[in-house]
Amino acid sequence: MDNQFSFSNNTRNDFINESQNKVFDILVIGGGVTGAGIALDAVSRGLSVCLIEKHDYAWGTSSRSTKLIHGGLRYLKQLEIALVKEVGTERAIVHKNARNLVLPEKMLLPIVENGSLGYYSTSAALLVYDFLAGVKNKERRKMLSKSSTLKAEPLLDSKKVSGGGLYYEYRTDDARLTIEIIKKAVELGAVCINYAKFISPIYENHRFAGGEIKDNISNETFEIRAKQVVNATGPWVDLIRKKDNSLKGKRLQLTKGVHIVLPYKILSIKQAVYFDVEEDDRMVFAIPRHGKTYVGTTDTVYSENIDEPHASKDDVEYILRATNNMFPKLNITISQVESSWAGLRPLIYEDGKSPSELSRKDEIFESESGLLSIAGGKLTGYRKMAERIVNKVVELHNIKTALKCKTENLQLHGSDFSSNKEIRNLIIKLTSENTKHKITVEVIKEWIYRYGTDTPIIIDFYKQFLSKNKEPELCFHLAEMQYCLENECVLKLEDFYIRRSSKMYFDIKKINPYIKEVAELVKAFHKYSDEEIAEQIERVKYYEKLALTFKS
Ligand code: FAD
Repeated sequence: MDNQFSFSNNTRNDFINESQNKVFDILVIGGGVTGAGIALDAVSRGLSVCLIEKHDYAWGTSSRSTKLIHGGLRYLKQLEIALVKEVGTERAIVHKNARNLVLPEKMLLPIVENGSLGYYSTSAALLVYDFLAGVKNKERRKMLSKSSTLKAEPLLDSKKVSGGGLYYEYRTDDARLTIEIIKKAVELGAVCINYAKFISPIYENHRFAGGEIKDNISNETFEIRAKQVVNATGPWVDLIRKKDNSLKGKRLQLTKGVHIVLPYKILSIKQAVYFDVEEDDRMVFAIPRHGKTYVGTTDTVYSENIDEPHASKDDVEYILRATNNMFPKLNITISQVESSWAGLRPLIYEDGKSPSELSRKDEIFESESGLLSIAGGKLTGYRKMAERIVNKVVELHNIKTALKCKTENLQLHGSDFSSNKEIRNLIIKLTSENTKHKITVEVIKEWIYRYGTDTPIIIDFYKQFLSKNKEPELCFHLAEMQYCLENECVLKLEDFYIRRSSKMYFDIKKINPYIKEVAELVKAFHKYSDEEIAEQIERVKYYEKLALTFKS
């Protein structure tokens, strides 16, 4: 199969060379969803843009969220009407532009005694929510009686539940959404470099004009210049502001959010449930996904090592208490937890407010040297955040050639589907073409919901590995990795297991049986030494341990 798009280590090397010989319109620091969105918005308007990320794309918060494209129902309670309207409306746009990655998810909101909302307030809240977000008829909220709620979710406590509300959100894979935005930006001409850390600012005439960058693979340093530097480093935003001596006024407040993953049979809910936590005034999600159910999240002030947040025993016990309280027949224990992750919310500090009360709105800070920093916000609102900041850059630098924002109608890489039916048809076609090659419909679905229209490329790789008499399950892993090496700039094993395939969270037991062969493939592709690849295997094992070690 002809694969014209390529985004590999070779592309990265070309990008490093190219980036040193020009002055970009914009240099974006940070390859999370915010930075990725800015790069795509800018390049699609005809601006030249370079993005640098110190680790892998989506290495920060953008691979550790609840993975929902949602309007934030609970923000209604805080009367954040404009925020709910904006992110609520964005849901349908993000879905339209990445139908295989952003899937409608039916949510059940059980109404319980002493819960945060009663029957009529839930009904009114969901109605306002649908109205603000302009939800289409088919997906509007439906109120349920007690018996219908228990029929919809038999695991709920019949003594506590008095009714329920059904409404729609969208489920995604945050890291995959980020990488597909990056790939689209690269396709349109953006220069994106992972494992490239911003070290220090370069000033020209007292203006922030670029940075000294360290290539975290070769350990060499180089310089990148731009008319405008944008700091989109999420939880690290204040560290960059500090380097610019502009950490004044508003600051970030980081809060930690933890999720746990359970085998589906342990928490076999029929749809996603958004439920009250009895011991405080919060709500958590339980979301079924690919044979697992994940539950979260927590919200606690965080001041430890930003680079490696992880779930503590207290975090996991809090989630389990809330879950067992809502589904009392289950009595889930910590030993049944299969994996976990923890992320940091880069929120804007407000005096006297608890973590859950802090606004999720984004804000732009402009320093005296001209550095623009963007913080706060949601995965869901990435496109509008990008539009706002690029508008600002265009205005500040009076860039007359810049086009209007186009991303509302820009499909992401691999998401060239005009309807959900087209996705189903592709699944049927590829399954029927490949049954003789021992590829099941489950694998085809998994790939299409991850890689979209690029799935045939992976199937071709699979067939090549299978023809060398390798076991089919191993070939699935090798084929997916080969695709990611050539098209998603995977430089390390952990990039693949954590952020491209999510196996670390949703299929952790499938990593070890195949890691040696997969590592051999990576070693040959990147010409790594024995020591280098052994170190990477150790790193994956370390992350496996981190996902399952809950310290007091
Ligand atoms: P990040 O993703 O953290 O990206 C910043 C990047 O900058 C990092 O990758 C980092 O490595 C890089 N960087 C840092 N310093 C440097 C440097 N010196 N040089 C180069 N690169 C650097 N939002 C939703 O819409 N839906 C949800 O369901 C949802 N759930 C959430 C659950 C939790 C627990 C949390 C914590 C957040 C959740 N959010 C959700 C919010 C959402 O995840 C974040 O708003 C979003 O991911 C932030 O993206 P970002 O790009 O700003 O930051």
